[in-house]
Amino acid sequence: MNYIFANWKMYLNFDETMILTNRLLDESFSENVSIGLFPNTLAVSEVEKALRDTSFSLGAQTVNWIPKGAYTGETSALFFKNINCDYALVGHSERRYIFGETNDDIRKKLEACLDIGLAPVLCIGETKEDHSEGKVKYRLKKQLMKAMDGLDIGDNDFFIAYEPVWAVGTGVPCMPVDVDDVHGWVAQEIKQYTDKKIPILYGGSVNVDNVVSYVSLDTVSGVLVGGATTKMRTFLPLIRAVESI
Ligand code: PEP
Repeated sequence: MNYIFANWKMYLNFDETMILTNRLLDESFSENVSIGLFPNTLAVSEVEKALRDTSFSLGAQTVNWIPKGAYTGETSALFFKNINCDYALVGHSERRYIFGETNDDIRKKLEACLDIGLAPVLCIGETKEDHSEGKVKYRLKKQLMKAMDGLDIGDNDFFIAYEPVWAVGTGVPCMPVDVDDVHGWVAQEIKQYTDKKIPILYGGSVNVDNVVSYVSLDTVSGVLVGGATTKMRTFLPLIRAVESI
């Protein structure tokens, strides 16, 4: 089983989101892929209605950890759970590096998701600077420790997405050999925090031409993809490529 998680970021407005969702629903997909859609918050509720009784899963792009209250502009993990979301991205690099989300914020978001049964997709990744300074595992170790040390995952599903910051949205993907090395290391590293088998997804400039080189690795359980999932002409072939392996 390979996961294909589509992060539509702020690329698609409400109408565009519904058009793409409905076009996907016109297709049938093999059971060896599990497709999760992460629409813009504005459209999540309508996409949820469209996806009912289908095999698609649904996720939030970001959540607030506080359940309810005077927090203008925020949407809580609980609100997403209330409308039947399955997943939440936590710590996406655009949240960390554009909106200043800290490791402490990320920890609170993880705890909020787990408390209410929303499966987190914890995004981790090194910056270009970390990469050039040979600090990839140093950065990931720190992010994992802050996120997972003492965390009670309970019976919840939990995902990790390895997304090097320099590869997200840049058209410069991480080489499969390096992804394999990092994923193998992450799988070992998280054993100190959980006995659960955690799927580790790769994200960063994945497209139809390179997706098979990732999902055919034993260390990779799927992909988290932005740009290439926002148009049917690039998303559908990407799904078909994963189905074919
Ligand atoms: C992402 O949004 O998580 C991502 C990996 O984006 P892209 O596929 O566009 O690099």
